[in-house]
Amino acid sequence: MDPQLQAAAAGGPAAGAPFRTLPVQHSLDDPASPWVVVNKRRPITPAQFVPGDLVRPAVPLAVSGEAALLNRTTAAAAERLFAAASAAGAPMALASGYRSYATQTATYNSYAATRGTESADTASARPGYSEHQTGWAFDIADAGGACSFEPCFADQPAAVWVREHAHEFGFVVRYPWMLHETTGYFYEPWHLRYVGVEAATDMRARGIATLEEYFGTGVAPGYL
Ligand SMILES: [Zn+2]
Repeated sequence: MDPQLQAAAAGGPAAGAPFRTLPVQHSLDDPASPWVVVNKRRPITPAQFVPGDLVRPAVPLAVSGEAALLNRTTAAAAERLFAAASAAGAPMALASGYRSYATQTATYNSYAATRGTESADTASARPGYSEHQTGWAFDIADAGGACSFEPCFADQPAAVWVREHAHEFGFVVRYPWMLHETTGYFYEPWHLRYVGVEAATDMRARGIATLEEYFGTGVAPGYL
């Protein structure tokens, strides 16, 4: 038996051991895998990866062009998520989906030119380090646009709803409150990441909020 599974069967992981309790079904390294862990210590490989199956989901869009695209699996799950949110009285729009390496480079360089590298690293991922480039992640907005990308979005109906229900559709709120020392990002109540219903539900059931802890890849507070 896998030592990690053995530890889990005995009531929990050994101190410091990865808290991985589902069998490994998908790669943690391949950007085409729903379990890929991308953070400031784990760049996308290859850096210029482009998902092969980008599509535009049938959801309300607050963006156009490449930012309205997601990979096929994420798009299908997003359609179910957005429909359920709307039915629950928390309508939302897709605010930012896929972002190419070239777009990330331009965005990051623009921040770096005006504010310096340190400030740019807080505001934007470096090229090759953004989950948006994988097609597995996107940002949501309130359908009416209230508090978009602002801290007060956390109190909007869409954000409240996804915190409670995103896992039912295979998503996690990727950068939770006060876990920036683990994820490398301050709270982003708008940034959702697809990992599949089984993993997202298991994370919630076990009270594990980050992919770094769940998959045991180590903390990523900043770039090396
Ligand atoms: Zn995002």
